[in-house]
Order: sequence, then C-alpha cells, then structure tokens
Amino acid sequence: DVLVNQIAAGEVVERPAAVVKELVENAFDAGARRIEIEIEQGGLGLIRITDDGGGIGPQELALAMTRHATSKIASLEDLEQVASFGFRGEALPSILSVSRMSLVSRPAAEAHAWQVEGAGALDSPRAQPASHPPGTSVVVRDLFFNTPARRKFMKSEATEFRHIQQLVGRLALSRFAHGFRLLHNRRKLLDLPPVDDEQGREARVGEVCGEDFLRHAVFLDEHRAGLRLWGWVALPAFARTQADLQFLYVNGRAVRDKLMTHALRRAFADAMHSTHYPAYVLYLELDPARVDVNVHPQKAEVRFRDSSTVHDFLFGTVHRVLRELRP
Ligand code: ADP
Ligand code: MG
Repeated sequence: DVLVNQIAAGEVVERPAAVVKELVENAFDAGARRIEIEIEQGGLGLIRITDDGGGIGPQELALAMTRHATSKIASLEDLEQVASFGFRGEALPSILSVSRMSLVSRPAAEAHAWQVEGAGALDSPRAQPASHPPGTSVVVRDLFFNTPARRKFMKSEATEFRHIQQLVGRLALSRFAHGFRLLHNRRKLLDLPPVDDEQGREARVGEVCGEDFLRHAVFLDEHRAGLRLWGWVALPAFARTQADLQFLYVNGRAVRDKLMTHALRRAFADAMHSTHYPAYVLYLELDPARVDVNVHPQKAEVRFRDSSTVHDFLFGTVHRVLRELRP
C-alpha cells in the first residue's frame, strides 16, 4: 500500500543518488555487463537506468514493483548471508511510491519487451507489450512529486547530480568488468568500456578521478599476513581541498570506514606534513571471515576481527610508499 511504501521510501530513497544506487545494483544482480545511467535535472526530473542483464518476464514485472517481492532470497539462511545487494524487495516499490516510474524489460527468450508503469502506485498489474532490446530499463520521473515536503528538502540540481556522479564513479571503480555510461541533461560525462587488465583499470581511474590525479599518483600493491592493499595514492604535489577523491574498497565493496580513513589520513599527514586531504583509490583484500560487511544495511561500514592489524597495515604501507617517493 502506498503509505507503507512511502514510509519505506523515506529510508531507501533519501535522494536521487540513492535511487541510482538501488537501480544500478539491481542491474549488477541481473548479470548486466553494460549499464547506462541517464539523468536530467540532477535526477529530480529523470533517472533512466538501462542494462543488458537477464531481464524480468511479463509475469514477474508487476510483482517486482510490489513490496517484499525479491527474487534473490530463497531462505532465511540466504537472508543472513545476502550475497546480493539491496533492501530485500523494497527498492522498486519504495521508488514507485514517490515517483512516476516505468519498468520495461525483455528477457533474451522473449520476442519483445513488456512494461508496467505507475505514479505512486502501479496503474495496472498487467504488463503491456513494449519495445526494448534484451535487458531492462527503469525510468523514474518527477521524484518526490507526491511528497512535496521531501522534494523541498532536496539541494540544488547541481548538488544532487554531484552525488550521483560521485556514486557512479565509486561503483565504476569497484566493477572494472562492467561498462558504464553516465549522461546529465543529455551530455555524456562518462563512457567507460568494460576492462580486464592493468592498463584498462588505470585508464578508468584516470577517467573517474581525472588525469591530474593519475599523473600525481603512485601505484602500490602490498601483501602482508594475509592482507593485500593495492591501488593508487596521490603524491604531495596533488593537493586536495576536498575529501572527494577518496575511494576505498574492502573485498570489492565500497566502504566508508572510520578506522581505515583514519589510518590513511595519518599516513598522509605523517609522511607529507600536509594538511591537504589525501586522495586515493585503494583496495583492501582479506579473508572474508576476518571482516563483517553487514554492520550497516547499506553495507558502507565494516567491522574487522582484528582492527589494529588492519589499521597498522594500512598506515604502514601507505606511509612507507609516500616516504620513499617524497621529493
Ligand atoms: P531486491 O533487489 O532486494 O530483490 P528490488 O525492489 O530492488 O528488490 O527489486 C525487486 C525484484 O525485481 C528483484 O528481486 C529482481 O527480481 C527484479 N529486478 C529489479 N531490477 C531488475 C533488473 N534491472 N533486471 C532484472 N530484474 C530486476
Ligand atoms: Mg534491489
């Protein structure tokens, strides 16, 4: 029911970037290789996510827009160790409850696509024939059109788009094997083909973080005691006045972790005597049993079994690399 969904939406759909995140993660889950993200007016006018994944059959389309209709959890055990992303069947109905939305999809086996749509709630549970290549498009227009208080809470279009761009960059740096395209008001801002080698990954880092970052960055790859840290850290010449180039991943997932950012901030401060924000794209890899990534439902936070080992490893590695390279 619409009200319940709108209440859930308060959590899931905080701002346009949160909608983009849920929809792109659905595309990952659907096995998509290429994902196109079209935005208008900072996502408040339009969000269109198109993927080339497995699609949704005509029978399941309306169901996918219904509360708790996830196809990803078959048992309680699954729920406890969710390998997939998302809010367990809440994203699509929540987004629908606060927007005009359409879901168009074509599984490869179907002769054509099928579509359902609605504003606040589905117009009809019956899917209509539509035209679309194999895969799925989710179109979200007029976000928060029926919840004016929320709509008023949004920042400027430029600010909302900045959040989206930051998110897409973060996702693109965690999924090198996926292709991403990002457009804002019909202007193409990112066009990242899938890559699978060192050179391709570095090119993508340049696209997302800027060539200037890459020119001033050093690549590192360190192993110690079952921990691996690899990626790029910027040298002192690359001064940041904003903390907007800090990309941190644990076992391939983007995280915002106080322990880790603290270790890195201290390594930069100690090694470079700089008050600038550090800039980095870093990947920590370790035995999944040594880390809990389910601390927060959005999974941005992590908890390490042995946090001081991780802290020391991060600090020590980055500190040494920066010291060695300091002019
Ligand atoms: P969840 O991702 O937690 O299952 P969602 O509300 O995000 O819940 O999606 C509901 C269901 O819709 C998914 O379980 C999946 O079956 C289907 N679905 C959503 N987006 C896509 C997509 N891009 N491609 C294929 N199926 C999708
Ligand atoms: Mg989902």
